[in-house]
Amino acid sequence: MVYLDFAATTPLLPEVVQAMREAEQKFFANASALHTPGHLAFNEIEKCRELLAEMVGCSSPEIIFTSGATESNNTVIRTFEGCKIETSPLEHHSIIEAARVYRGDKEPGLYSCMLANNETGEFLKFPDPAGPAAPSPPPPHFDSAGVPLQAHHPPVYRHSDLTQTLGKIPINVKELGLDYATFSAHKIGGPVGVGALYVREGAPFKPLMIGGLQEKGRRGGTYNTVGIAGFRAALEFVKNRDVFEIYDTKVRELRDTLASRILEEVPGSSLNTDISKDKSLPNILNVSFRAAEGESIQLYLDAEGIIVSTGSACAAGDIKPSHVLMAKTGDAEIAHSSIRFSFGLDNTMEDVNKVMEVLPKIVERLQQISTISK
Ligand code: PMP
Repeated sequence: MVYLDFAATTPLLPEVVQAMREAEQKFFANASALHTPGHLAFNEIEKCRELLAEMVGCSSPEIIFTSGATESNNTVIRTFEGCKIETSPLEHHSIIEAARVYRGDKEPGLYSCMLANNETGEFLKFPDPAGPAAPSPPPPHFDSAGVPLQAHHPPVYRHSDLTQTLGKIPINVKELGLDYATFSAHKIGGPVGVGALYVREGAPFKPLMIGGLQEKGRRGGTYNTVGIAGFRAALEFVKNRDVFEIYDTKVRELRDTLASRILEEVPGSSLNTDISKDKSLPNILNVSFRAAEGESIQLYLDAEGIIVSTGSACAAGDIKPSHVLMAKTGDAEIAHSSIRFSFGLDNTMEDVNKVMEVLPKIVERLQQISTISK
């Protein structure tokens, strides 16, 4: 199998499997319990918290563990319930849908903008005046019941979904001027069902999960110690294995080679990812094939053992064209004919060759039976 769907999820790293096995034995106790096994489990969680904080440039009390990026995103958006919530149009559905449900017209406002998009890999920027140079807004404007108060000067708090960015390029939430940031373990070789949320000290916060004092009352629910141990092992891997360098060199070369070969060898192809340096993550390539449906290409590639996706997996089965490609291109045909190739650290040039052995024929066959002009 040639797996090229790492942006959807990654296989567990062997180091992660081992860490989780050990944690199952050693850190099985309830991490909130006052007994010794409870303390041991709690310490394991704190080690992960410290490591993540160090790697993203914040202090460890500013990290809250969650069940994943979807929960982290929902938590931030719901904190601003009734307030002005704006997002970039390219956000993940867990931002866009939550914002639709919770937005109102009060201050303070929230702007959510991911650093790198999950479908195209392209980098996004906060619009001015909430641009990177904007000063961080003053702390809380919420009364004791968590109700937002009218701010003296209307601040716009800044959230970024860093799910696709973590582990690919260095991140510093303070340099990015963020008040909130979202992370997920399963995009970096860790387990599904574990994520984190950075909340700047003093930034407004309302727990989504209530009914437990875990995470200093900020997220109720028994700690997922084994999952967090897996997250830690995945973070250690990123920290200690020159991962950023490998993405920037080897993985970038694979991605760029696939891009140029597709443009040369597949008639009607066009890139939806700007692959020039500093415009996108090095591991994602989104391509459209005129008069060939993305889902069909995906299924034919699957039959050849090549695993890719169309748009985001969360929206798979959704017949609407990708909102990301629609926002970017305004062209439903481009959006419907798109494929996302996303690379991992272990992919090789042989994988690219295998794709190019079959892709031109698959696209040609689909274009021949298409009713859309080529
Ligand atoms: N945000 C982005 C940008 C994503 O790519 C994903 C995963 N598709 C999510 C959020 C949701 O992540 P999780 O599975 O951890 O809830």
